[in-house]
Amino acid sequence: MDVMTPAQRSRCMSRIRGVNTKPELALRRALWQLGLRYRLHQKLPGKPDLTFGSARVVVFVDGCFWHACPAHQTQPKTNAAFWRNKIASNVARDAIVNSALEADGWEILRFWEHEVNDNLAAVVSRVRRAVQKRKPRRR
Ligand SMILES: [Zn+2]
Repeated sequence: MDVMTPAQRSRCMSRIRGVNTKPELALRRALWQLGLRYRLHQKLPGKPDLTFGSARVVVFVDGCFWHACPAHQTQPKTNAAFWRNKIASNVARDAIVNSALEADGWEILRFWEHEVNDNLAAVVSRVRRAVQKRKPRRR
């Protein structure tokens, strides 16, 4: 069922790569305020939204529409087959990206954009725990 208005849909379409979306910016700001420092869109598999290099933690904020969130995915009525394929290939690519990063020793945190929107504090504390747990000890 397509519940988006055409205006919402086109706003959504304009975020194909999901770079610098509102939830991502909110998360970045909150982590920065805690003193957690990260790099953006590093050249790693899947171009993670945030990379904590020394802790080897990567963070992705996945758009609910683009990555088939079970709570919010909608089925566009127009070009239904195109969108089905497009989203299925995003999901398949996410899995490939995850295994490539895992094989390389990264811890992967993936959040739905709705998690960031609805409960930023919980997302922030999960990122903080993961980064602090894995941070190499200072010499
Ligand atoms: Zn969602």
